[in-house]
Amino acid sequence: MDALTQDHGRRTTDDLRAGRPIIEIEGVWKTYEMGPTLVHALRGLSVEVQRGEYVAIMGPSGSGKSTLMNIIGCLDTPTRGRYVLDGEDVSRLSDDRLADVRNRRIGFVFQTFNLLPRQTCLQNVELPLVYAGVPGRERRRRAAEALEAVGLGDRMTHRPNELSGGQRQRVAVARALVNDPAILLADEPTGNLDTATSEEIMRLFEQLYRRGHTLLVVTHEHDIAHHARRIVHLRDGLVEYDEPVAEPALAGVPEEALGAAAPAA
Ligand code: ADP
Repeated sequence: MDALTQDHGRRTTDDLRAGRPIIEIEGVWKTYEMGPTLVHALRGLSVEVQRGEYVAIMGPSGSGKSTLMNIIGCLDTPTRGRYVLDGEDVSRLSDDRLADVRNRRIGFVFQTFNLLPRQTCLQNVELPLVYAGVPGRERRRRAAEALEAVGLGDRMTHRPNELSGGQRQRVAVARALVNDPAILLADEPTGNLDTATSEEIMRLFEQLYRRGHTLLVVTHEHDIAHHARRIVHLRDGLVEYDEPVAEPALAGVPEEALGAAAPAA
């Protein structure tokens, strides 16, 4: 049994949050040179996220959300300051090393799903395992398990255009989780979905959270952010406020009412 499907039982907050934060960002600056002018997208931002947290990142356009997510997702490095991911300082890695950390440690979910249209669901979910050098049989087994875990066990050989928007995003979530990442980063994951389908995806996220996954969701929608347990609000490249969510949207919903089974962290 691999890490994706191991059932560690119900999360106990104390267990999950013991020890070092999974994300430690300390005094991070990101400065872009635009000809003669410098644009400071992040201005000495600090934030920590504990293992098993569910955090929404909000803020107006231009506040630094994408820049921060690119750094957290190891797509980019800070100009100054420190980023420690699960105990590993990744602030100054070369592009190759960064790509390696990214493939092993981060699961991405995008607004546009980013599925390969000619590949089946199974092949799409297998992709991160191809990059990780996992042999074919093992790949298929793990991809099939991940699809079952998001409620798409009966859609393995379908192609993305044969699925609804919600199902496509479920495939993307299965692909993000198949490598057992340290964190799941979702950038406007419901941006292309109608209200009912967005709710379906938020139910899936709620299940992932309850199973112990660490979730970071960038969104400009308050309704979506209020599914998280904490909202970090950015303004002008800094944290403007960072608050727990008083009544998370699905917190009171019993597990069996949430829908398809989710994989354990
Ligand atoms: P958000 O995602 O909250 O809209 P961004 O992180 O995209 O904010 O951008 C923060 C600031 O940094 C903005 O002023 C933006 O114009 C600038 N910026 C972002 N990326 C670049 C880049 N590659 N080159 C120059 N400026 C950039």
